[in-house]
Amino acid sequence: MRLGLDEIEAGGVVREYTVPVTTFPDLSAVADAAQFDFTTFLEFRLRFKRAGALVELDGYLTFGIKDICGRCLIPFETKIESSFTLTFTPGKESSFDQQIEELELEDEELGQVFYDDEHLELLVPLQEQVIISLPISPLCKEECLGLCAECGRNLNETICTCEKKVFNNKFAALGKLKLDS
Ligand SMILES: [Zn+2]
Ligand SMILES: [Zn+2]
Repeated sequence: MRLGLDEIEAGGVVREYTVPVTTFPDLSAVADAAQFDFTTFLEFRLRFKRAGALVELDGYLTFGIKDICGRCLIPFETKIESSFTLTFTPGKESSFDQQIEELELEDEELGQVFYDDEHLELLVPLQEQVIISLPISPLCKEECLGLCAECGRNLNETICTCEKKVFNNKFAALGKLKLDS
């Protein structure tokens, strides 16, 4: 996945890619470590525009995953979507020390990527965007009620008596707090 600078016309150029997860060097390992599965190909819609020596990228990505809900622990499938912008900056042939400096600079200036020749290498920056788009605490639904801390029942499916007890206790504690203050 690379784009020649000469392919970027004056008004910009759009590139669309639909690729399997194995296109990227690290994504399968990331999925294994975080215990989720990619369920679809990864789709990218990328608009490149030159701005002097820089190339601005407006990107959109989407893909499906099967993950485990952090509250109720039930596997669920969901669609991930993310928009992002990156700036490609020309970099020179550089010594190892300079490369380290550039890396540190890259860390500081998030969204900036260097290119060395007449091509933009897209694989690593796009892989990074996929990783950034992953949910940190996946939920089957925003209002997932999770599991009862007492009996372990899935509260999305059933209401248990211990849940009510916890609820009442909370209200009782609140009432007490008000009286005390
Ligand atoms: Zn859930
Ligand atoms: Zn319960």
